[in-house]
Amino acid sequence: MTDCGCDKARKDLEEYLRNEVCKTQHSDIKEHLDNCPGCQDEALVATTLTDVVARACKETAPEELRDQVLARLRAVQATH
Ligand SMILES: [Zn+2]
Repeated sequence: MTDCGCDKARKDLEEYLRNEVCKTQHSDIKEHLDNCPGCQDEALVATTLTDVVARACKETAPEELRDQVLARLRAVQATH
């Protein structure tokens, strides 16, 4: 088992979340996410943003919105 590293995980994160990476790569990234809280946060933010943006029917999320989502996630995590 080799950790694919943050750079690769984050580079492929969007495709991973859309299930567009091949199975081998998918398990590499999943394994990294399981072991890396930083990338778990990134993945969580990305999925939440996708959700929010889909609901808002916008193509891209403004930086401001990203920060808001991130702050909310941090607050949620802090309560656990
Ligand atoms: Zn990482």
